[in-house]
Amino acid sequence: MTTYTPMMQQYLQVKEDYKDAFLFFRLGDFYEMFFEDAINASQLLEITLTSRDAGAKERIPMCGVPHHSAKNYIETLVQKGYKVAICEQTEDPKQAKGVVKREVVQLITPGTIMEGKSLEGKSNHFIGAAEQLDDTTFGYAYLDLSTGEAVVSSIEGDGRALLLQMQAYGVRELIVTESLQLLLAEHAVNAGIVLSVETDEMTLDKATNYLQAVPSELQVACLRLLAYIDKTQMRSLSHIQAFTYHEMKNYLRIDSSSKRNLELIQSIRGGDQKGTLLWLLDDTVTAMGGRKLKQWLHQPLATRSAIEARLDIVSVLLEEYFVRTELQASLKQVYDLERLAGRVAFGNVGGRDLAQLRDSLRQVPIIQQQLLSANKETLQKLGAALDTCADVETLLAHAITDNPPITIKEGDVIRDGYDERLDELRFASRNGKDWIAQLEQEERAKTGIKNLKIGYNRIFGYYIEITKSNIHLADLTRYERKQTLANAERYITQELKEKEALILNAEEESLTLEYNLFVEIRDQLKAFIPRVQALAASISEIDVLVSFASVSEKYRFTKPEFHGGRSLEIIEGRHPVVEKMLNKQMYVPNDCVLEENNNMMLITGPNMSGKSTYMRQVALIVVMAQMGCYVPAERARLPITDQIFTRIGAADDLAAGQSTFMVEMLESQHAIMHATKNSLMLFDEIGRGTSTYDGMSLAQSMMEYIHDKIGANTLFSTHYHELTALEKELTRLQNVHVSATEKSGTVVFLHKVKKGAADKSYGIHVAQLAQLPEEILSRARVLLENFEAGKEITTPQEINEQPVQMTLFSEEEPISSAEAEVLKNLEKVNILGTSPIQAMNILYELQQQL
Ligand code: ADP
Repeated sequence: MTTYTPMMQQYLQVKEDYKDAFLFFRLGDFYEMFFEDAINASQLLEITLTSRDAGAKERIPMCGVPHHSAKNYIETLVQKGYKVAICEQTEDPKQAKGVVKREVVQLITPGTIMEGKSLEGKSNHFIGAAEQLDDTTFGYAYLDLSTGEAVVSSIEGDGRALLLQMQAYGVRELIVTESLQLLLAEHAVNAGIVLSVETDEMTLDKATNYLQAVPSELQVACLRLLAYIDKTQMRSLSHIQAFTYHEMKNYLRIDSSSKRNLELIQSIRGGDQKGTLLWLLDDTVTAMGGRKLKQWLHQPLATRSAIEARLDIVSVLLEEYFVRTELQASLKQVYDLERLAGRVAFGNVGGRDLAQLRDSLRQVPIIQQQLLSANKETLQKLGAALDTCADVETLLAHAITDNPPITIKEGDVIRDGYDERLDELRFASRNGKDWIAQLEQEERAKTGIKNLKIGYNRIFGYYIEITKSNIHLADLTRYERKQTLANAERYITQELKEKEALILNAEEESLTLEYNLFVEIRDQLKAFIPRVQALAASISEIDVLVSFASVSEKYRFTKPEFHGGRSLEIIEGRHPVVEKMLNKQMYVPNDCVLEENNNMMLITGPNMSGKSTYMRQVALIVVMAQMGCYVPAERARLPITDQIFTRIGAADDLAAGQSTFMVEMLESQHAIMHATKNSLMLFDEIGRGTSTYDGMSLAQSMMEYIHDKIGANTLFSTHYHELTALEKELTRLQNVHVSATEKSGTVVFLHKVKKGAADKSYGIHVAQLAQLPEEILSRARVLLENFEAGKEITTPQEINEQPVQMTLFSEEEPISSAEAEVLKNLEKVNILGTSPIQAMNILYELQQQL
């Protein structure tokens, strides 16, 4: 180390503490990186790698980015999951003895980045911490550094479930202990979450304000999170709010794969949000409202009073059309108060931010007035409860100019009349400038030179410029020559220099003063942050509720009713997203009635008839209702649902094979382990990822288990027609089917859900539509009858004990093994996916086997 220059030694010392980060080392106008950092960064950032003499024998690798454009480079690295330590010169180089002092002032990590494109307006950007509580439970805390919002809760499930949940919420970085890091590493990679190890905890006395609502077993996660943020950010965290405790039982819990299956926030294809429930429901006009809506979708409520309170506001907003549209117009003028408050606390607020804060606050009394003017008490109360933060608005209105520039040091941020001294200085400088304009006029008059002008540059200050052809007109005894140009001379005079000194001093002083005043105001504002945050929370809720009212009207939703029991009754329900996406065709509404003692439904019907849409629509209606939104149905009477579980395959599941079947079983396992009688379970085509008998047995035994042991409201869809016979055995099971019909030789899906099982000869019917030869069709009918005659409800044990085929055929009518083989093959044929020609070929092959 001794062979390096002192500066390089300083670098190495700092780097020692930030081994896992890129160290941006400030040298003049650049941030430089050295050694490994330089090699890696030059590749990641596509910048030139150079080298530098550092005192040692060999030159060392180096690369750098200009300080003014560093933001983008930092963002690129952080987006890729890296950390960046910003090391600044912390003393004035002019005053430094020896090497300028340098210190890391901030560690920017994926979860703590505060600027750039990654901070999408309508998304939160969370950093979290997790802690294993027992074998099946994790505690976690997360907060958004830009808004100050902080939440703590727990989740039942394994590491994968935890990471998926974190990913769904928008957590980019998770703080863990070393042992947890080992456990979670693989899932974290899949979820795109960076794990950071932190073993320190913030001391309790420093953290008490944050922890008031936090149960003791969850405190550790919060304390580590706070310690990590404290260490990396090295500045005031006054805007971080106390952790809100989300107690599991107060929310409708939906695991992340079900959220995906139901396309609540992300579509199954991934990519944009089009086609999701979020996309449909989002009529919010503020970024804060957009974020709140997303949070509500992630966590619908599970307490009746809270749900009904939201529903009541929505219903009043629906009635008060004018209030609603006026509100929306005012809300549109409100900037992101939460993030503005965050910037104030963080100290990176600019003049323009304060102007936005002021202009937003100006809207609040208007919003309040709009609420108060409504005829309904519900809205009046909402209005009366708003703290408009008028004192903050007054301060900013007096202090900040209408359109301040982005950077603070340019001046023009503080309004005239705010500070007497600033006014004086500004007067002096403006006055001086007037005086110069005046002087120009006078000089022109005296000399008679029309194009004489007074200019300014940084080196010579103010000067009088006369073109060479006019010099003979000037009285050179008064002028002192300063500079000669190709065709002009520049002069100064005694009085011009005196005035110049006054002007420049006044300007400089006024800029310094303005900056100091700005910092003063910013510090003053810090005291108001909690109030601005509370206001932001109210405004964002109003925004979401207005949005609910607006979509409810647009799509003809109705108010759901809740009751204390467990029955569920949806009359003429619709899938709101499928409905919106249909063009021209009408969506066919369907009922779903699950009574307390008859609350399992087995849905049969051909592919594409609408089974899966029907099941999803029931789940979406439950979710929407518990968010406090109206629902797409003529009428809905609902229980409070505690959890939703889905096992809904994507279209390509079958092709994907074994691994998908494993996922199917994992999801089923999760559902069965965690469901209660108050849950809603959806199983679409369970068991279809494996061989017929395997799948059928699994499906049946799951249904029996749910029927006997869980009792949850359950919808099953299947193409195993045999399962419909279970209705006789399982008292709480009802058969329904989705009908289809024929019209001029083609199958028409009616999408209508009706009582009873689907017609068993449906496949043969479709074959008939495809005009297969009558001989084949009648043979198929005979074979089908054989199947039917031999079919019995069997318990899973029986299926296991006997050779599979044996249970399918009656004793009296034995068939040959060739026939059995044909039947097996026939059963595998996907009739709807088969062209007439293919069908002919298949039949030919079958015949050959007999
Ligand atoms: P299945 O699960 O039976 O294979 P889906 O639920 O996937 O069928 O439905 C297939 C398509 O039929 C959907 O994409 C949708 O376009 C249409 N559809 C389903 N249900 C309805 C309905 N109730 N009204 C109108 N169209 C529907």
